[in-house]
Amino acid sequence: MSISLSYYPFQLQFTHPFTVSGNSRTNTPIIIIQLEFEGVTGYGECTMPPYLGESQETVINFLNGIDLKQFDSPFEIDSLLHYIDELQEDNNAAKAGFDIALHDLICKLKATTVANYYNTPRSDKQSSFTIGIDMPAKMVEKTIDAMELGFKVLKVKLGSDNDQEIMKRILEVWNGPFSIDANQGWKTKESALDFVHYLKDEGASFVEQPFSKDDLSMSAWLTERSPLPIIADESCKRLFDIDRIASSFHGINVKLMKSTGLREAYQMIGEARKRKMKVVTGCMAESSCAVTAMANFASLADWVDLDGPFLITNDPFDGVQLIDGKLKIPEINGIGVARKV
Ligand code: MG
Repeated sequence: MSISLSYYPFQLQFTHPFTVSGNSRTNTPIIIIQLEFEGVTGYGECTMPPYLGESQETVINFLNGIDLKQFDSPFEIDSLLHYIDELQEDNNAAKAGFDIALHDLICKLKATTVANYYNTPRSDKQSSFTIGIDMPAKMVEKTIDAMELGFKVLKVKLGSDNDQEIMKRILEVWNGPFSIDANQGWKTKESALDFVHYLKDEGASFVEQPFSKDDLSMSAWLTERSPLPIIADESCKRLFDIDRIASSFHGINVKLMKSTGLREAYQMIGEARKRKMKVVTGCMAESSCAVTAMANFASLADWVDLDGPFLITNDPFDGVQLIDGKLKIPEINGIGVARKV
């Protein structure tokens, strides 16, 4: 008996259009992966924000190249994931979807959770809610949405020409904890440092990706002087990136679609801790499938930014819930989801 793989393209619909660097989207493509063994199904998800270079087409091409006949059981996780990683370079989202489905399958077969499998508690943790970049009035509206949804922590996307005005307007309605994601948008070191001091005074907890992902010397300059932790997102995708960026940031944002899945995400968290770096667990625009998978590692993070399912209207899975601002994973083995459609 061998492992069988199937997949389905799907479009997630956003509650609000998502705007990053001038691009506005009302939906985002994903691929749902199913791995079956002995009548048990494991689910995974690949999400492909268009600016990262993968698409439904590239993921399908990647998946069509997988031959699982050479493996007798899903428990050969090391050789399976090694095989997948070596199949083609990059394709991180495609690899992540496979890794998530494999973890779901293995843990269901073992009647345990992903958190247990990695010996970490599945504890309820607060997640931030991301306010996408937009006109200041629209960002205030989204902040009010976050409050109505019950989120207790905000993450504000900046990097536009009116960051100061945006922050001022948002802080007129928001009193809780918040962090900033500059999305590579800041241009000069000195003005960035001034703004970080202002953010510190206003109570911000960290600043993510202030400068272009390749400009490590600017990040290193800011990290040396910043009163707030400076976190790498676009500058750090996989385990092998950490050594290169470690002296330029205080911490990393680990995301499944960058790390190629749960196993390497777990290794990245361990490596960051060894280096006394801070850890954020984050997500792309994702359904409950990938986000619930990552929520199994929430207790390992300093800050959790897993709001994907709360930004979409047609989640194909039942998974993590928000209760009193905290993420709660259903008591289901595997990654913690059930398929709805
Ligand atoms: Mg980011």
